[in-house]
Amino acid sequence: MARFDVIIVGGGIAGSALAAALAGSSLQVAVIEASAMADESPAVSHELDDFDPRVSALTPASRSFLGQLGAWSLMAGIQVSPYRHMHVWDADGTGAIDFCAADMQQPCLGHIVENRVTVWALRQLLKQAPNVVMLDGRRVAELLPETPDHDTGEVLAYSLLLDDGSRLAAGLVVAADGAVSTIRGLAGFNTREWDYQHIATVTTVATELPHQQTAWQRFLPEGPLAFLPLASAGQNHCSIVWSAQTELAERIGAMDDGQFCDALGSAFEYRLGGIVRAAPRASYPLRQRHATRYFKPGIALVGDAAHTIHPLAGQGINLGLKDVEVLSQELLRAVAQGLEPGLASVLSRYQRRRIADNLGMMLVMDGFKRLFSQQGLGIRWLRNSGMSRLNRTPAVKRRIMRQAMGL
Ligand SMILES: Cc1cc2nc3c(=O)[nH]c(=O)nc-3n(C[C@H](O)[C@H](O)[C@H](O)COP(=O)(O)OP(=O)(O)OC[C@H]3O[C@@H](n4cnc5c(N)ncnc54)[C@H](O)[C@@H]3O)c2cc1C
Repeated sequence: MARFDVIIVGGGIAGSALAAALAGSSLQVAVIEASAMADESPAVSHELDDFDPRVSALTPASRSFLGQLGAWSLMAGIQVSPYRHMHVWDADGTGAIDFCAADMQQPCLGHIVENRVTVWALRQLLKQAPNVVMLDGRRVAELLPETPDHDTGEVLAYSLLLDDGSRLAAGLVVAADGAVSTIRGLAGFNTREWDYQHIATVTTVATELPHQQTAWQRFLPEGPLAFLPLASAGQNHCSIVWSAQTELAERIGAMDDGQFCDALGSAFEYRLGGIVRAAPRASYPLRQRHATRYFKPGIALVGDAAHTIHPLAGQGINLGLKDVEVLSQELLRAVAQGLEPGLASVLSRYQRRRIADNLGMMLVMDGFKRLFSQQGLGIRWLRNSGMSRLNRTPAVKRRIMRQAMGL
């Protein structure tokens, strides 16, 4: 049985970033990823159908962390799409808010990046790391605690059975295996969950007018609709996330391409003219999930395995990368002190530093979702006048933006 100090289950953005943060340390690390990851560099996307439908709006804080790891320059060498403005408006009235990078003395508010570009860049770093082993195309099937420590009763190592029959063991297993985390389930972590009763329709569209490097968000009573600007010659490609109540989302799913483009243009009030064409659509049921704790001795949760939130403010993986940054700091600190990385005393510091921040962001997102789905006249009036007043209060706007940018 191969033994490691840390086994990371899941080689998505969170898992790969954690391994990259531990690269070059004295820890022996294995990353187990269920899918067979492509090795060749992703091509620069020029045409509508070239873009990965899964993109993330990455905050300056995430950019900085990815830069420290050495991934950002590789990502920028392929394609990252800066956005300099954000326009948010209420479908039910006149309330609107504008955010601008210049007001924040920043070159941009963030970048839209295809998820495959981020994962590829991180994996290039792992290939060069002598202390990291990548095991792709293998799924964890079982998690077994090894004999507890005689004095403390703490489980100090776990062994994993993979679906190809191989066995590995480590003093720390990190669940980075996404929203429906196998490790979280096998280890018996509790979660608080509720269904947003929204399904997100995701695709790339070509618009009649250029996007002006602006991230657009319209709050409809059925759910928010976002247009995220993608870098391309005509500046007329956007990744869209249309979150809608299940019944409407099912109707959207049944539309042919022409009907979909018409419905999308209308839902977006033709802010970028008509929708010229749309790539194939994918849909994601949206559910809020939060693990009630982020560790047990020998096991830690990061990224979507610890929390999933509504994508309306594009914060999911930004929170995940903050988890990774903090967990890697605590693990490297433990190593420097000669401590085992899976000890409760080490992992509790990680939990303490991350859980309140994640919970706070989840509550804010939930509040937004509820606020904009209210139809009562009084609430609509308050919402619209509140947005307009906020738009005229630069100091408060800057505070909100700093929070959203992770500054
Ligand atoms: C529509 C939509 C739009 C979004 N937009 C944004 C945005 O703009 N900005 C943002 O910050 N966030 C956004 N998010 C959230 C973001 O996509 C997630 O937070 C992020 O992908 C989570 O990354 P992760 O690495 O934690 O998990 P995942 O990306 O789910 O990766 C988990 C990995 O684990 C592997 N795996 C699973 N089970 C096993 C197993 N048993 N054994 C081995 N491997 C396994 C999987 O193959 C996968 O590669 C959005 C989400 C949605 C649904």
